[in-house]
Amino acid sequence: MKATKQHRDFAIRLMEHLVVPTFVLDETGHVLIWNRSCERLTGIEARDVIGTKNHWKGFYTEERACLADLVIRNAAAEIPDLYMVDCSTEPDRGIYSAENWCHLPTAGGLRYLAIDAGPIHDEGGRLIAVVETLRDITVQKEAQDKLEVLARQDSLTGIPNRRLFDEYLVGEWRIATATDRHLALLMIDIDHFKAYNDTLGHLAGDVCLQQIARIVSAETRRDCDVCARYGGEEFAVILPRTDLSGALIVARRIAKAVAKARIRNPGMGKDANLTLSIGVAAYDKQCRPETPIELLAAADAALYAAKDGGRARVHAWREKLAA
Ligand code: GH3
Ligand code: MG
Ligand code: MG
Repeated sequence: MKATKQHRDFAIRLMEHLVVPTFVLDETGHVLIWNRSCERLTGIEARDVIGTKNHWKGFYTEERACLADLVIRNAAAEIPDLYMVDCSTEPDRGIYSAENWCHLPTAGGLRYLAIDAGPIHDEGGRLIAVVETLRDITVQKEAQDKLEVLARQDSLTGIPNRRLFDEYLVGEWRIATATDRHLALLMIDIDHFKAYNDTLGHLAGDVCLQQIARIVSAETRRDCDVCARYGGEEFAVILPRTDLSGALIVARRIAKAVAKARIRNPGMGKDANLTLSIGVAAYDKQCRPETPIELLAAADAALYAAKDGGRARVHAWREKLAA
């Protein structure tokens, strides 16, 4: 009996001084241990939480289950609803792992925590406690988020790059086909841009691309529209909930804005201005491409038709089909 108490005291001291923020619940969900690191992380003292079910107050502003509560309830299925990321590798053994933005009410501030929780059983296999450990990985998470933003941004123009475009298109395609809404695409290519580079130099070409990116972005006005640099001197625009005639209006507005900017292209003649060729395609009542790739190919085909037709023009995919 004495040895058991000594062991117990030792185990509790060990937990209390662990450098990893840790708390322990008994099998009824009441706090048994709330270690020093957990006090420092949450700003809540052990004496205020031990014996209660108020452990959530360390991490959230409203009452909700913590990962340890889910372990007690054997409720791994609830993790996706309650956490940003479910990283459990052994849910069958009752060991859960997750990541979440937590609003630590007492310590103040939003922190991104990596959380692990696992059961402790007695010799008979009965659940006697659940241990939850926490790691503050806010700095890593913010760095990772910044990298993910950068990975989807074109470094020259600052607008979304092709990667973001492709991801966004797949998402909008799913929404459009599932809810039977329209979706339109513009493929935009600068005319005779090689001549521009050859006469004014590559650096001037870069500045020009930045200017065109600004104009195209400014003319795609809704928050849901995405204007991306698709490749060298090509831009592409996703217009959710827009049919072909709506997309044609946007395309003509873009072409007009570029004409108004009067960007000289001296490689094409003394008074020549830079122009765009724009291909337009849509998933709408009249046209039903079957995949996002098909929609993209249609906009691309329309762009080629615009080039073939003499450049400096907007061409719609359907017109080509009708012809
Ligand atoms: P077209 O009217 O048929 O589109 O003719 P084009 O000259 O615009 O097309 P082409 O494909 O022959 O040339 C594209 C040019 O775009 C060549 C390339 O040097 C230039 N370009 C592509 N990316 C960049 C870039 O990042 N910066 C600069 N300055 N130029 C670029
Ligand atoms: Mg091109
Ligand atoms: Mg071109």
